Amino acid sequence: MKKGFLIDMDGVIYRGSELVPGADKFIKALVDNDLPFMFLTNNSQRTRRDVATKLWRMGIPVQERHIFTCAVATARFLAQQKPDGTAYVIGEGGLLNALHLNGYSIVDHSPDYVVIGEGRTVTLEMLEVAVQMIFDGAKLIATNLDPNCPTKDGTRPGCGATVAYLETATGRRALGIGKPSPIMMRMARKELGLATSETIMIGDTMETDILGGVQMGYRTVLVLSGGSKRSDIDRYAYRPDVVIESIGEYGRSPQRLEELVPTMNRADDSTHDLDQWRKAN
Ligand SMILES: [Mg+2]
Repeated sequence: MKKGFLIDMDGVIYRGSELVPGADKFIKALVDNDLPFMFLTNNSQRTRRDVATKLWRMGIPVQERHIFTCAVATARFLAQQKPDGTAYVIGEGGLLNALHLNGYSIVDHSPDYVVIGEGRTVTLEMLEVAVQMIFDGAKLIATNLDPNCPTKDGTRPGCGATVAYLETATGRRALGIGKPSPIMMRMARKELGLATSETIMIGDTMETDILGGVQMGYRTVLVLSGGSKRSDIDRYAYRPDVVIESIGEYGRSPQRLEELVPTMNRADDSTHDLDQWRKAN
């Protein structure tokens, strides 16, 4: 049976700028064996090309098509909801680029959406402008709701923290697009051309990677090379299918990891028979 992987990056492939030992071999084996895979990241700062270049420099030979960011998911979602719309953006190049590629204009007054991404450029003035726009009717969109991000020196506030500020100030709730939202999780699977039963999500974070995979009915693999410890798992009402120390353990044969993952019921892939449903109702 065909299977493919959606793979988180930070904590799975690298930590900060340091490669997880053996992760490069794992990815190279996926490429060499022609197994479908895509990196799934909640970081909206970089474009697909920027991320691919960062990985190349770490010795991981991937193309732009292997990268799927929450910025891309957000821009495509907005283009479906409101083609040729306008956005006020608090974010960086990856988000601005994705919006432009999907027919959006970046404006500084009367936007359709206020879109918040990851970034280091946010100022109190920008937040003030965004608050007023939301009161005037702009919809609040978050590329992701991660409260913070690990850095090599500790932790910095994430996109979710900026969003919480705006939610508190306006009393409106944001729509989050990145993991664990089904919007991004489903979009990535479709782009890879996989069915639900063929999709395996690998990540280091229970609240995003594993929850997102569980919600979609994907098989899930938690790696302990990032932010989670084995003892953390019991705190959650959902579980990953498989827990491993690191994908580095499967460096030369990703097929061994595939074999660990339980087979899934193909019935999950069937489409609804609308006619039958109508007759029955
Ligand atoms: Mg991670």
